[in-house]
Amino acid sequence: MSGNPSSIRELLARFGHNPNRALGQNFLADGEKALAIARAATGEGLPVLEIGPGLGALTAPLLSLSPRVVAVEIDAALVEALQALYGQNPRLTLVQGDFCKADLPALYAALGGPFAVAANLPYYATTPICLRLLASGLPIPRLVLMAQREAAARFFAQPGSRQYGPLAILAQYYYQPRLMMELSPADYYPQPQVSSQVVLLERQAGRPFLPGFLPFLEGAFAMRRKTLMNNLKDLPGAPATLAALGLLPGCRAEGLPPETLAALFRALAPAEEDAGS
Ligand code: SAM
Repeated sequence: MSGNPSSIRELLARFGHNPNRALGQNFLADGEKALAIARAATGEGLPVLEIGPGLGALTAPLLSLSPRVVAVEIDAALVEALQALYGQNPRLTLVQGDFCKADLPALYAALGGPFAVAANLPYYATTPICLRLLASGLPIPRLVLMAQREAAARFFAQPGSRQYGPLAILAQYYYQPRLMMELSPADYYPQPQVSSQVVLLERQAGRPFLPGFLPFLEGAFAMRRKTLMNNLKDLPGAPATLAALGLLPGCRAEGLPPETLAALFRALAPAEEDAGS
């Protein structure tokens, strides 16, 4: 169990592990907050995909609330520790590897149906991990994500702001993001430099998955200061579609809300529309 800083220190000593800063290993050291996060994720008893289980701060309450937990951890030494701590629990599947390269269909098969995501995200990979989840097309009704404050702000970024980009757009188009909790450095061991936030993303009804939307957004934001017309010039029909949607030739992707960008994408790629969930 890892409900406070001294219990984390004990676990680290027991397994002879030194927290790896490069992998963002700041372990959650507040059992009550971990339980609240697990409750928010599992809801009515969903299976849960956990990314970066570490020493099990979230894994333990998730296992008590969810019928199935699939946890992906990059650090082989931590997978061994988790195996020793929770390996006997038939509800747990541990997968060693980088989530950014993980076999998503295999994870989905292990989860067995619609699932929630819970993660205390490693700061260095917050954006790639979240983009991978949001662009997966898998049925994920809810995500509960802990991130450093500045990274968490990206989920709420508004058009025209520096933080606005593909992550904010996918998060706000498919989901309703809500700030769930604030955490201070003292809630972790070892303590990070900055405070963190927990963001709850709940799937919006009536927004079917759009395969190809992320590459389209990445293209549209590739040169932030270029006009949309310029960024999309290789797409046949782009000028006419922009005009049909009432968008001025000089507009930039960074100034358009998620719904407008989705409408533009759908208009430019009608054949791909609704191919996903
Ligand atoms: N969940 C634990 C907790 O709350 O105490 C640990 C959180 S710690 C901030 C981030 C965890 O993600 C670490 O265990 C780290 O080894 C793991 N990790 C880092 N990069 C990863 C990646 N690309 N894929 C999977 N796990 C990763």
